[in-house]
Amino acid sequence: MRKLSADWIITLAHEPLKNGVVIIDDDGKVINLLQSPVGLNDVEHFDGILCPGFINAHCHLELSHLKGKLPEKTGLVNFIQNVQKFRSADIQEIISSIERAENEMRENGIVGVGDISNSENTFLQKKKQNLHYHTFVEVFGFNPASAEKLLSNSIELASKAPQEATVVPHAPYSVSEKLFRQIADLEQSIVSIHNQETAEEGKFYKNKTGDFLKLYEGFGLDISFFNAKGKNSIQSYLPWMGKGRKLLVHNTCSSEEDLNFAEDNSDNYWCLCPNANIYIENQLPDIPLFIQKKLKLVVGTDSLASNHQLSILAEMMTIAAAFSDIDLETMLVWACKNGADFFGWNDFGTIEKGKKPGLNLLQHVRETSGHFYISEKTTIKKIA
Ligand SMILES: [Zn+2]
Repeated sequence: MRKLSADWIITLAHEPLKNGVVIIDDDGKVINLLQSPVGLNDVEHFDGILCPGFINAHCHLELSHLKGKLPEKTGLVNFIQNVQKFRSADIQEIISSIERAENEMRENGIVGVGDISNSENTFLQKKKQNLHYHTFVEVFGFNPASAEKLLSNSIELASKAPQEATVVPHAPYSVSEKLFRQIADLEQSIVSIHNQETAEEGKFYKNKTGDFLKLYEGFGLDISFFNAKGKNSIQSYLPWMGKGRKLLVHNTCSSEEDLNFAEDNSDNYWCLCPNANIYIENQLPDIPLFIQKKLKLVVGTDSLASNHQLSILAEMMTIAAAFSDIDLETMLVWACKNGADFFGWNDFGTIEKGKKPGLNLLQHVRETSGHFYISEKTTIKKIA
């Protein structure tokens, strides 16, 4: 048993506790939460803020060996071509980079991960259950003729994934309407998709123009079957995705009209991956608009192919640097509670009796009139 106290405990279930105490058992389960350490023995006190463990809602652990290999700020189409070019590597190198990346996530206070897989490469590591994973087995296939085959391969891969898995479409520009509808027919509880990561996706859906035409040409794919939709991708494909809860990842180019359409038609969680957005497109989503619209936001790191680290704090720092009025508590709701809600992970997300959320210590956080703000000086330490 441990009795942990800090200047503040942000539980995300109650008001922050000033000098409060959280008591956990040897498994990290919360036994009690107290307003004050007065009268208790053996209390460990920390300078700073205790908060729940983080949920990394979007990662591609299997791309960890690409760390530092791909050039930055070249745009998504070039990035995709580079991933294809550099992706293959010695399997031992792939496996050991996956293990290192997982260790990095654990040290950075991440307890649960929504992880995209195109292969079995991460399954050995996931079997160790060091972290809680939901594997999204991702299907690519813009040619409708190959839909059945691709889907059955993905269903087979998902059946081998440790812990929990669902089959999901990669992106609007890489999945045919037919394949979208076949995935929807699986009626899975949660799915994910890369949404509006680049302005090129909008050009392609609206007018069948832009850089994606070059990409298909490069792949030798005849896309004469695809007709311009006259509207943005999300307004076209979302109705093909069925009723399940959706994780929309990136949203860099989502307009207010897109957000309105999506919220009227679907149950969505919107995943921010700001460091990957800077790495690939050098652009951030309109986060203040998302807040104004009261969207359910979550945070992801994306992969080490498009990020220098796997750290939710580093993502929050980038958001805070760009939008200085967004306070820490607001971002912790995204990074902990909303992530746990999306995946249905009841043990995680908030510090409450009976849960086993993990505990992180944040230090060098500024407090101004009852609100907390992080900066590039803020640090994180995993406590439980
Ligand atoms: Zn991704």
